[in-house]
Amino acid sequence: MKHFSTLFLLLLLCSMPLAAQEKIDTATVLKIKDEGINHSQVMNLETWLSDVYGPRLNWSREFRESAVWASAKLKEFGAENIHFESFGPAAKGWTLKKFSLQVTEPRAFPIIAFPKAWSPGTKGTIAGEAVYLDAKNEADLQKYKGKLKGAIVLWNDLVVVAPHFQGDASREADSSLLKLANLGSSERGRRGRRPQMDSTTMQRALFNSKKMEFCQKEGAAVIVEGNRGDDGTLQNVAAAGLPLRSQDITDGFNSRANSYDADAPQFIPQVTVAAEQYNRMLRTIQKGIHVKLEMRLDVEFTKVDSSFNIIAEIPGTDLKDEIVMIGGHFDTWHAGTGATDNGSGVSVCMEAIRILKTLGLQPRRTIRIGLWGGEEEGLLGSRAYVKQHYAERQGDLNYMMGGGNGSLTTKPEFEKFDVYFNNDNGGGKVRGVHMQGNEAVRSIFRSWLTVYGDPSAQTLTIANTGGTDHLSFDGVGLPGFQYIQDMIDYGIRTHHTNMDVVERIVEDDLKQAATIMAVFAYNAAMRDSMFPRKPVQPPMTR
Ligand SMILES: [Zn+2]
Repeated sequence: MKHFSTLFLLLLLCSMPLAAQEKIDTATVLKIKDEGINHSQVMNLETWLSDVYGPRLNWSREFRESAVWASAKLKEFGAENIHFESFGPAAKGWTLKKFSLQVTEPRAFPIIAFPKAWSPGTKGTIAGEAVYLDAKNEADLQKYKGKLKGAIVLWNDLVVVAPHFQGDASREADSSLLKLANLGSSERGRRGRRPQMDSTTMQRALFNSKKMEFCQKEGAAVIVEGNRGDDGTLQNVAAAGLPLRSQDITDGFNSRANSYDADAPQFIPQVTVAAEQYNRMLRTIQKGIHVKLEMRLDVEFTKVDSSFNIIAEIPGTDLKDEIVMIGGHFDTWHAGTGATDNGSGVSVCMEAIRILKTLGLQPRRTIRIGLWGGEEEGLLGSRAYVKQHYAERQGDLNYMMGGGNGSLTTKPEFEKFDVYFNNDNGGGKVRGVHMQGNEAVRSIFRSWLTVYGDPSAQTLTIANTGGTDHLSFDGVGLPGFQYIQDMIDYGIRTHHTNMDVVERIVEDDLKQAATIMAVFAYNAAMRDSMFPRKPVQPPMTR
């Protein structure tokens, strides 16, 4: 196979005149690929991170335990300067100790369900009647006055569930990659389209907030939501919600109180339930038959504390003050094991470090790994890291969309930062790179991907992508990039679900992503010059 791949590379190199502009150590690229494909440890990392050390809710005891494990592993691989860097805000740690929910009458059956994170416990087993809160407006709500004491409230209408006539998993079609490649610089790529807060959405949010307040005031025992996932999958299992405060509304929903805040008010447990079983309960109640449930939820709140990022390095040589960074977020939601969000990205980055150290490579620039905390709560860790070390942009950095246009204050390290590569769009293989509107990087990535030589990983789009930690760098004008990845079944089956588990990982995809990460880090660390930056708008202030 070797002579074939060499021939393939030569053909590609001959056909790509741009590649000649980048000096690339082709022999080392081949060594990295060999180590990462034929002697991979990426699945071992992935299963440890997911099965044993997942999930890792931010601020939790499990997050800390996993971080200690990851640092020891990075040390074993030969990384140096391994340390934690803490960041605020301080918040409550939350650990699930025990949970069960089942229907006891008229027919007994266990329910696929999960508590929302930071839900309080039930202080033992509670039993009660399910009450369908069929309220579309405030007048409807009043009909339930005095009727919810100790009730298990069924929160929403029947969930529409339809058969899947197509498979869950897919790879990017040539047509969708072509569409990405043809996007303009101000357009959005794969992720980060922020849902519009139109007046209907806002009205619904306001009424739901009132509904929640009503349940709490009436002394309901628990809120049970019919989940919008299907086939046993619970989608969007995230933090419990709180009723809106008046300042949240005047602020246009931008500064909501969170259930993990150190000073969060008391609220009742919130549980999300598989759609099919929720619907069964609801249809039974609608036939005039009483449905009874039993639930137990034990949780542990740990002390209010700050969170932290895990940082480690392969020190550079003649350009060691200049920093090439790779990373992804270390925290997860809590219903699955966080295998694809983002155990995969963490495994890819740790494996990249292992490959580079195993080969004894001595990069010119320092290669640093950043495993971020608090991504799921709003890129908290990477934003704090960039602010502490590199630059701060005044005003709101719209983290889902990137950018931000406030004035910029930079630190001396800003000039020495080269580039950041992020992996956090599920476990799918790399198909190319989002260039975040930076046309000057096209020839570099084109050369690197050409020499890497995977014909399925060649797409470059000038478009942005959002929703993850490269934005913390991009937002202050530092080169920060997220790959284009195959989504597989991320959207439908794994992203923030109870099915975010190791089985949803394709081993060969992780190996490819890890070797590309190692090649990108190495190539960046060996270039004669640092990465070109986008022009900063507005001009920097010092
Ligand atoms: Zn993620």
